[in-house]
Amino acid sequence: MTQPTDIRRDGHRPLPPDLLASALTAAERGWPVIPLHPGSKRPAGHPKRACPGTGRCADGHRTPEERATTDLDLIHAAWAHRPYNVGIATGPAGLLVIDLDPVKAEEPEGAPDGAASLQALCERAGQAVPDTYRVRTARGEHLYFTAPTDVRLKCSVDRLGPHIDTRAWGGYVVAPGSTTPDGTYEVSHDASVADLPGWLAALLTEPHRPAPVPVRVHDGTRAARTALERECAVIVSATEGGPNGRNNTLHKSACKVARFVAWGDIPRHVVEQAIQGAGEATGLPPAECRTTIRSALDWVIAHATPREAA
Ligand SMILES: [Zn+2]
Repeated sequence: MTQPTDIRRDGHRPLPPDLLASALTAAERGWPVIPLHPGSKRPAGHPKRACPGTGRCADGHRTPEERATTDLDLIHAAWAHRPYNVGIATGPAGLLVIDLDPVKAEEPEGAPDGAASLQALCERAGQAVPDTYRVRTARGEHLYFTAPTDVRLKCSVDRLGPHIDTRAWGGYVVAPGSTTPDGTYEVSHDASVADLPGWLAALLTEPHRPAPVPVRVHDGTRAARTALERECAVIVSATEGGPNGRNNTLHKSACKVARFVAWGDIPRHVVEQAIQGAGEATGLPPAECRTTIRSALDWVIAHATPREAA
């Protein structure tokens, strides 16, 4: 039996060849793939709440991540069935993908998008934006990294900065070649996939901290208030060196402000309270912050040079 090449027996539209090729390319890289509904980002198949408990789910529901495969025969069979978009299961693929998104319509003008946030994050860390394999998404960009093997990184939302999400275990990314109503996913920088830099991995493995709240000080002279606000900003943006690095920053900043306390320019409790809040925002334990701040203030106040000689 022959059939016209552009109309398939099951009545579906002809398969765009790049989708099967995209799935095979990913699988050949060792990245397990899942079919996504044609033209969409949603995984094909039933959600857990609608699991029939039969077939591949006979022994319990299997998530898209668990179903993801690099088996070329299974991929040929699935994509011959329908023109699925391609999802890459980042966890089993050993990938961590940084997902840069655009600003939302309701955000104020000038709000940073994901790309600007990543640039700022790298500048604060004194690091270059890593060179790696990139995919232009419908509305942003994906940066692919080899995930560290000593930790099992999960997905994150806005943890690295505004509009920066990460996909690892428990998630997936839409692969190049896929198309949604917002546009087509395409390789934008065909470099090799870099290892996730250690400093980024550290940010994703440290205990999560709340977003820093800008400190506004009302007591004290203008110079003292300015110094306190500036040092609080330094403390909350301290991300390097783990807990020791944050504690060192806390100590140094407390010392810088302490001389204003010694000079009587600002009440001690105002400084303690503000710096305590900034220290806790970095994820340091409150008791550790208190000890560090108290010892810094005590020492500087005891040894402060009079203002005239400063
Ligand atoms: Zn199921």
